[in-house]
Amino acid sequence: MLFVSLYCNQKHKIMAKFYQAVLKPMKNDKEVLESAYPNLVDTKYMPTMKERLGDAECPNCKDEGITNKKETRWMMLADETVAVTQGGKAYIECLDCGHTTHL
Ligand SMILES: [Zn+2]
Repeated sequence: MLFVSLYCNQKHKIMAKFYQAVLKPMKNDKEVLESAYPNLVDTKYMPTMKERLGDAECPNCKDEGITNKKETRWMMLADETVAVTQGGKAYIECLDCGHTTHL
């Protein structure tokens, strides 16, 4: 069994490739929602931020009592991430605690 495993590893050598994400602030809720729902732009079905996230405060930070911050900072996950490709939605991650949810 070990032999097979080693053989397979040699035959299908996997190369590591690294990417670096660069955070770019988004202008406003409209830009965020249009990025998350490009097919709903200029339709009556475009949700509001209030409908999607309420006050957009991170629920985990709230539960953990992380109150020494002035704002919730969300990062939109790249289309290539597993959350987005498998979830099929726009996912966001809290930059203060790592909580992930979708828009
Ligand atoms: Zn958080």
